[in-house]
Amino acid sequence: MKLDATTPVVVSGGGSGLGAAVAQYFMAQGISVGVIDLNVDAVPDNALCAQADISQADQVSAALSRLRAEQGQERLCVNCAGIAPSAKTVSRGAAHDPALFAKVIQVNLTGTFNVASQSALGMSTLDPLDDGERGVIINTASIAAFEGQMGQIAYAASKGGVAAMTLPMARDMAKLGVRIMAIAPGVFLTPMVSTMPQEVQDALAGISEFPKRLGDPQEFARLVETIATNTMLNGEVIRLDAGTRMQAK
Ligand code: NAD
Repeated sequence: MKLDATTPVVVSGGGSGLGAAVAQYFMAQGISVGVIDLNVDAVPDNALCAQADISQADQVSAALSRLRAEQGQERLCVNCAGIAPSAKTVSRGAAHDPALFAKVIQVNLTGTFNVASQSALGMSTLDPLDDGERGVIINTASIAAFEGQMGQIAYAASKGGVAAMTLPMARDMAKLGVRIMAIAPGVFLTPMVSTMPQEVQDALAGISEFPKRLGDPQEFARLVETIATNTMLNGEVIRLDAGTRMQAK
């Protein structure tokens, strides 16, 4: 798909980190971007925004309607909203809090499903572009989907779900010309990571093969653009991790 002023974009989680980088990247090219976020205080200037909790399907529906009324039906939907609390299976004599586990699944997995499925429905109503393509949906998994670390049982389960739904969703939407992809980032320098102690950040930067540094959110945005513009990419999860393979501690 060629991205230009006629191809509006929706970004969930566009108020911070990877999502904000994606929103700014496309707005700098004159493309209209609508952001869905729980926290709208930090949404980049010039982005349309609609406050919603993505774990609530009715809020997602209302937010998408508001954005579409202003910028039209999105051709590209990028799902970045997510949370990453840490807790072990058993800790200090207590089992993992089931409410915390459910919350992480509800936001990261069900929330991604809510936005992606409702965006897919909207895209299915559009006229096809060249190649019969109607739209592209890019979800954000994590390398924790494949090598979850200690304390990441809930997060890894949620991101494993995001990775696993990529192919069946791509198959579901194939006849309608909507592509579904996921990106599994390694460690990127966003508020989710920059709030960790410096020694933890340094250790994380050292575990990649090359380059030995944290990812720049701009590099995530550039992969989003590549996926959106290369029609042969479909039904796949792409690791963006400088060769990182998380080891046991
Ligand atoms: P971030 O905390 O900087 O941004 C996340 C955004 O999601 C925030 O603006 C937050 O308000 C929003 N959000 C959270 N819960 C929400 C909800 N229920 N409804 C709507 N919005 C909600 O995080 P980030 O580092 O930019 O991460 C973005 C995505 O990338 C997340 O899904 C994260 O799991 C994934 N990821 C990040 C890294 C990394 O190293 N930063 C690595 C792998 C995967």
